[in-house]
Amino acid sequence: MQPRDLSDHSPYVPGRGDEEVARELGMDPEELITLSSNENPHGASPDAVAAIREHAEAIRVYPKSSHADLRARLADRWDVSEEQVWVSAGADGSIDYLSRAMLEPGDRVLVPEPGFAYYGMSAKYHHGEVSTYSLDRSDSFTQTAETVLDVYEGERIIYVTSPHNPTGSTMSIEEVRLLADATAEETLVVVDEAYGEFAELTSAVSLLDDRDDVAVLRTFSKAYGLAGLRVGYALVPEAWADAYARVNTPFAASELACRAALAALDDDDHLERSIESARWGREYLRETLDAPTFESAGNFVLAAVGDADRVTEALQEEGVIVRDCTSFGLPDCIRITTGTREETRTAAERINGVLERIE
Ligand code: PMP
Repeated sequence: MQPRDLSDHSPYVPGRGDEEVARELGMDPEELITLSSNENPHGASPDAVAAIREHAEAIRVYPKSSHADLRARLADRWDVSEEQVWVSAGADGSIDYLSRAMLEPGDRVLVPEPGFAYYGMSAKYHHGEVSTYSLDRSDSFTQTAETVLDVYEGERIIYVTSPHNPTGSTMSIEEVRLLADATAEETLVVVDEAYGEFAELTSAVSLLDDRDDVAVLRTFSKAYGLAGLRVGYALVPEAWADAYARVNTPFAASELACRAALAALDDDDHLERSIESARWGREYLRETLDAPTFESAGNFVLAAVGDADRVTEALQEEGVIVRDCTSFGLPDCIRITTGTREETRTAAERINGVLERIE
């Protein structure tokens, strides 16, 4: 017995854990500076950790009320109805829900290149087809409606990532509106704001007030520091009121994830600190690195370092883990997540050292 033919599906390869890398390098995991997965170096809000402890006993039951509480709290936060909030296991889960809700076999999805791999993967799992629009490197990966419309051919879903992974560029709400205006009624524009908190940018959520062709993705994995809990959400058009119950994986966001997310939403100080830290870090990296970098609205910076594979390897030997962007189609670039100030300073110093050595 074999599964169906999966040869057309690329595997998702997550970064390796600190323990495994440290063992290989003969180092203490504590010594590693891991800046490869856009995680929050300050961790989760202490209130979120306390909520997990407090509700530990509740893992016995399905997350019924916590799920509803989180949807209600997020509806309040974004001024939408509870039915418009689709809570999921990470924003990845919401991407799947949108695929389920939107795609018939053979329907096409338009995704950015370079870009986040899971949009296309999810579309394919749901028997969709994937086409791409290119972000122009010589124009700093700028995103406008035109960038997408140049190649748009009536696709069912268009993904826009703002801030964009891995480049850090953004699409303004005005451009998202122009894009949605110019596309067919049956095309949904999904604005992925996984890194939205770090940007000085108006969220596309307000577009949901008067239109039914835009959805927004958000997550607790980045600015809220809850990547390990797997909780994210989509905000969808009002007209989709009964769709969530039909497409969601039941209880995909766990009781503890929902409770921690609720606590995190109430800790503005922690969020502010995390945002400030990322904004400081991205400016510091841009000013300090001896390599061309791109303006970033996220908690990371893309740097053109020459041979990314070599640089990543050499940095790993020095205990600094960054993302080699070869899999994004940028074999000369690395993506560096902002760490604590100390981590960011040390990483910049070591990156410059490696660049000098291998030039
Ligand atoms: N969108 C983008 C652009 C991302 O970079 C990521 C995570 N790397 C996600 C969505 C998914 O995040 P999560 O599932 O952890 O919420």
